[in-house]
Amino acid sequence: MSGRDEFFHKERCDRCVAGLGARTMSWFTDETICMDCSDEEVRTKKAMRAAGTDPSFYEGCGREQYEELKARFGTEGCLKVRAEEGGA
Ligand SMILES: [Zn+2]
Repeated sequence: MSGRDEFFHKERCDRCVAGLGARTMSWFTDETICMDCSDEEVRTKKAMRAAGTDPSFYEGCGREQYEELKARFGTEGCLKVRAEEGGA
């Protein structure tokens, strides 16, 4: 199957193995992921920006690097994001 067909025929998220209704491509890896995992990536990117790191530098960086970023900015950046959003 071509990459495009694979994208549309995949039944499960590459990351959390949830069934795929809506799907999207990961920013950080070449995985096809569900919207929950996508939301998590969006939060990670937001946290990275809040911590002064440009996420575009990490586009396609791979799973291992993403897990590292998530762990690092998930704690470091989240407080700043929360502060910016006024507790939302
Ligand atoms: Zn998922």
